[in-house]
Amino acid sequence: MLITHDTECALDALVELLNTSPEACGQEALPDLPALRGFVAHRELSEVGRLTATDLDAIRLLRARFWEVLGAPTIPEAAELLNSLIARAGTTPRLTDHDGHDWHIHYFAPGAALADRMAAESGIALSMVLVAGERERLRRCEAPDCVRVFVDLSRNRSRRYCDSRTCGNRLHVAAYRARQRVAPPPEAELGSTRSAAVGETTPETPGVGVGT
Ligand SMILES: [Zn+2]
Ligand SMILES: [Zn+2]
Repeated sequence: MLITHDTECALDALVELLNTSPEACGQEALPDLPALRGFVAHRELSEVGRLTATDLDAIRLLRARFWEVLGAPTIPEAAELLNSLIARAGTTPRLTDHDGHDWHIHYFAPGAALADRMAAESGIALSMVLVAGERERLRRCEAPDCVRVFVDLSRNRSRRYCDSRTCGNRLHVAAYRARQRVAPPPEAELGSTRSAAVGETTPETPGVGVGT
């Protein structure tokens, strides 16, 4: 799937937004304006003006609507939800090379509210994934006790965990301990075996770029 840097950024922003919800992380990770400002700063979102309580409500509502898209049982239903979500935001595609980034398209209208901006950017990015027949690339983490989502941009769609440094590692350790319970090795080997089991995990996509 051909995916541009700004599309990737918009998908990453969407994943981060989805994962702030109580369904994903067990508590509301966007409880107030400082948290919302932190989200905007972390995503390095440009052209975001002063945020208000209205923005906070709107972004949580948008998050719920994106969850609906993800949960849509069929592609036509997902497409309908996406179309309405994007239409409500209003879009005015324009080329920009702000802040030293290469030329890319901003889909949101100049001065758009944060939620409208994210609806346009992430909505269209998700539409492109759907058009490419790659809807499954946005999916749930496979760790049994994790309900976060992630976007798998690996070539062979082999990514399994939301963040290999936590979920992936935790599973490796759990599998190792389970093996130890079945067949405990001699004391002398324990230390080296453990470090090998933990060390075999490698991060899959470290340092995803941000900044649109
Ligand atoms: Zn996870
Ligand atoms: Zn940009």
